Amino acid sequence: MNIPNTKQPRIVIVGGGFAGIHLLRKLIKTKKFQLVLIDKHNYHSFQPLLYQVSTSGLEPDSIAYPLRKIITSVENAYFRLTEVTSIDAKNSTLHSSIGQITYDYLVIATGSKTNFFGNKSIEKNGMAMKTIPQALNIRSLILQNLEKATITTHKEEREALLNFVIAGAGPTGVELSGAIAEVRNNIVPKDYIDIQPSEIKIHLLEGLERVLPPMSEKASAKAKKFLEELGVEIHLNTMVEDYDGEVVNTNKGDRFKTKTFIWSAGVTGAPVKGLNANALVERANRYNVNVFNQVEGYENVFAIGDIALMKSEKYPKGHPMVAQPAIQQGENLAKNLIKIQKGEKLKPFSYFDKGTMATIGRNKAVVDLKRSTFGGFFAWFIWMFVHLWFLVGFRNRIVTFFNWTYNYINFDRAARLIIRPFRGGVKNEDLVNPPEEEEEE
Ligand SMILES: Cc1cc2nc3c(=O)[nH]c(=O)nc-3n(C[C@H](O)[C@H](O)[C@H](O)COP(=O)(O)OP(=O)(O)OC[C@H]3O[C@@H](n4cnc5c(N)ncnc54)[C@H](O)[C@@H]3O)c2cc1C
Repeated sequence: MNIPNTKQPRIVIVGGGFAGIHLLRKLIKTKKFQLVLIDKHNYHSFQPLLYQVSTSGLEPDSIAYPLRKIITSVENAYFRLTEVTSIDAKNSTLHSSIGQITYDYLVIATGSKTNFFGNKSIEKNGMAMKTIPQALNIRSLILQNLEKATITTHKEEREALLNFVIAGAGPTGVELSGAIAEVRNNIVPKDYIDIQPSEIKIHLLEGLERVLPPMSEKASAKAKKFLEELGVEIHLNTMVEDYDGEVVNTNKGDRFKTKTFIWSAGVTGAPVKGLNANALVERANRYNVNVFNQVEGYENVFAIGDIALMKSEKYPKGHPMVAQPAIQQGENLAKNLIKIQKGEKLKPFSYFDKGTMATIGRNKAVVDLKRSTFGGFFAWFIWMFVHLWFLVGFRNRIVTFFNWTYNYINFDRAARLIIRPFRGGVKNEDLVNPPEEEEEE
C-alpha cells in the first residue's frame, strides 16, 4: 500500500463511518501513532439522511464528507481507498484489492450491510438503501417511474408504476414512506398535471404488530397516526415472501403490483473474513468484543460500531446498531489505545443512551427520551437540530440547513433530478475497486 515504516506504532482503521472517524479524530490529536484509514469509499456517508437523497430532498454531496479532509495536513496519517478482503491475524496483516499492510493495532469499523435474510428474489429485484449510490438509484427509479406513468396508456402498468411498496417499518421505512408521501402530496400536483395524487399508493409493510418496533409504544402509535394522515397505507404483521420485479407477495396472500419495491427490513454485520471462529457471532455477523472492544481471542484487534457485539446485562444482544454507540465506542477506544501505550489501566465502555427519534414528515416526528415521549412540531424541530449537529462538515450543515429552509417555505424538494438513470442490473453491489492481484506492501 506504499505506507512508510516509522518508529511509531501503526494503527490501521478499516471503515470511515461514525465509529472510524470519531476514533481517528481523537487519535490525530495525540500524534503518538502512525494512522492508516482504509475505506472502500473515499467519503463518509451520513446514513440517517439517505432517505432524503432517495426522495429528492437533499443532494448526495450534502450528506457525504471526503475522508481525506479529516487527515488534511496531518503528519503520519494516511488514507487508502480499497476494500479490505481478509485479515491474517497471525502475521498482523490485512489484505486488500490494492495490496497488503501490516499493523500493530487493527480496528475493524466496517459497519453493517442490508440483510435480505437469504431471500434471493428480494435481493435481486428489490432496492436497498444502505449507501449513497443506492439512495441515488432509488431517487432515479421513483422519478423515472413517475415519468413512465405519464406516457403509458396501459392501466395496469400505470398502477404498478404509481404503487410504491416499502418493507420494514423501522425508522428507515417510516422516514422513507413519509417522504414519498410528501412528494405525492406536494410535488406531484405541481409537476405532473397528468397524474392524480390519489392514483399514487404508498404501502408500508411490517412483519411485527406495530411501526417503529425499537421505540416506545406511545411513539409507535403517534408515528402510525402521522403516517396515516399523510396517506401511507400500513400493513402490520405482514411479511414479504418474494418479489419478482413485478409483484410483491406476502405471507397473508396479499399481492402488490409495483415497479418500486424498497427493502428496509434489516441489517446485518459486515465482517471481514480471516479471524478465528469464536471471534464472530454468526447469527448477527458481528464480532464478539469485550468491554474494551477487543475482539475475542485477540489482544491487538478491536471492533467498534455496528460490527461490534458487546454483550452486557442491559444489552444482552449487544448495543443497538445506531450512530451513538458507534461514536461513543470510537471515542472510548481512542482513549484506551493511548492508555495501552502508556501502560495504564483501560477504561471499560459504558453506553450513554441519549434517546431515539424518527421523523415522518413536515412538522411530524417522534422522540423517545429516558423519561418522556413526545411527537409533533417540537419533536420535528429537535430531530432537525440533532441531525444538523451530527452531520459531518460545516459546509454540509450550511447546505442542508439552507435546503431544508427552502423546502419548508416552498413545500419543495429541489433535487428531483435523474442525473444517473437507474437501469436495473447491479444495484445492491457496492464495490469500488474490483479485486485485482495482490501486490507487495
Ligand atoms: C438508511 C439508514 C438510516 C439510519 N438512520 C439512523 C438514525 O436516524 N439514527 C441513528 O442513530 N442511526 C441510524 N442509522 C444507523 C447508523 O447509520 C449506523 O448505526 C452507523 O452508521 C454505524 O456506524 P459504523 O461506523 O459502525 O458503520 P458505518 O457508518 O456503516 O461505516 C462503515 C464504513 O466501513 C466501510 N467498509 C465496510 N466494509 C469495508 C471493507 N471490507 N473494506 C473497506 N471499507 C469497508 C464502509 O464503506 C463505511 O464507510 C441508519 C442507517 C441506515 C442504513
